[in-house]
Amino acid sequence: MMRPMSLTPTPDQLALLQHALDRLREGFAPLPDAPANSARPEAAAPARLDAQIQTVLLEAAARLQDNFPYHHPLYAGQMLKPPHPVAQLAYALAMSVNPNNHALDGGRASSAMEKEAVAQLATMFGWREHLGHLTGGGTMANLEALWIAGQLAPGATVVASSQAHYTHARISAVLGLPFESVPCDGYGRMDAGALERRLAKGGVGCVVATMGATATGAVDPLGAILDLRAKHGFRVHADAAYGGYHVLAGNLARPAAAAFGRIAEVDSIVVDPHKHGLQPYGCGCVLHRDPSVGRFYRHDSPYTYFSSAELHLGEISLECSRPGAAAVALWATQRLLPLERGGEFVRGLEASREAALELHATLAADPRYMVAMAPELDIVVWGMRAPSVSESSVLARRVFEEAAKRDLHLALAEVPIGFFGGAIALMHANQPTVTALRSALMKPEHREWLGEIVARLGEAADAARGE
Ligand SMILES: *Cc1c(COP(=O)(O)O)cnc(C)c1O
Repeated sequence: MMRPMSLTPTPDQLALLQHALDRLREGFAPLPDAPANSARPEAAAPARLDAQIQTVLLEAAARLQDNFPYHHPLYAGQMLKPPHPVAQLAYALAMSVNPNNHALDGGRASSAMEKEAVAQLATMFGWREHLGHLTGGGTMANLEALWIAGQLAPGATVVASSQAHYTHARISAVLGLPFESVPCDGYGRMDAGALERRLAKGGVGCVVATMGATATGAVDPLGAILDLRAKHGFRVHADAAYGGYHVLAGNLARPAAAAFGRIAEVDSIVVDPHKHGLQPYGCGCVLHRDPSVGRFYRHDSPYTYFSSAELHLGEISLECSRPGAAAVALWATQRLLPLERGGEFVRGLEASREAALELHATLAADPRYMVAMAPELDIVVWGMRAPSVSESSVLARRVFEEAAKRDLHLALAEVPIGFFGGAIALMHANQPTVTALRSALMKPEHREWLGEIVARLGEAADAARGE
């Protein structure tokens, strides 16, 4: 069995960090010697300071033990994927300079690296031209995309599916834009017919296509949405915070592959490198297809942007200070693992998807469980068979707890009973939604650990059913 991904870089890798820090310092060698923080009182007693730091760090380490083991393949719950060692090391390396990618004054090299890394993401979606930058996360990135939509069509309605991330309703409220949701089909994908009926009433400025819904990984029918755009005229924003990288995956089923095949035609895209892109938190990305939307970001800061006439990222971003280290980590990760079909990074995504398909098939063949449609990406949602929907929900919560006692960490999701089609028809449908179990199988190792995961789940299911 493959060894679980380690929590941290190995000792050898930490030595590489020291080596890289030394290399970085060489660049500043001509400066007169000025030991770090030499003016501070604690500099007089470095050994005492180190001892104090050690105490505090060990205390923090002990506190941090109060976490689920996110790095381990038996953590198969929420969207959590450990950052790659190269991302961790590059982040630490850059943090020693602590560049600020707001302006070139604060982060010259890291701004250039951000532009390169973001251009690679745009290329992944088939864009040669774009305007884009990194953000604190998917929420901020989606806010910028909907803000541009609102600037272009003031007061027009934003529409997303009922399975879209809840952030779109909230962001629309922040922006003062009306928001409406349209229903989904049995897969959790936007119902294109329902969208068309809504469009016929007029007043829609932007449709959010969710490319990988947070609960189930469902991919909205982007082709149908784009065809409706040709008829009705509105902006299409692809929220690919979770699923964006799957545009490169070679093993999607036909509907999802067809949807990703047309992603280059949308107006804006959000992708979260801190979800599937092996980055530490604090790394989202927004991309606009038409660079001229940069005009909406214009502002007159009296105290930044004096170092050059080149583009400062703060001129095309709503956030001001941003970590240059996040850009360096992403740049380094994409340098090591290029965003290429068939490459190592994409093979990892494909392994996750294989794990999800296999888990789905295994659960479907077991009378204790009921499954939704086959996963479109790598998220599996399943329920517990019981006489009624309410009993099924109670049982799912109990399985969740029994699994955790066996070091198998799952997630719960509240989904419409329609997700389970025929299986639910056999139950007393005494409530409209059902609590289901959910696994985001984001780690490539999940494929090899599937036997272990299914065995522990089976024990948990029997314990929950009192068997
Ligand atoms: C995670 C997610 C978001 C929110 O992004 P954050 O990075 O958590 O702010 C938005 N949309 C989708 C589809 C997501 O999966």
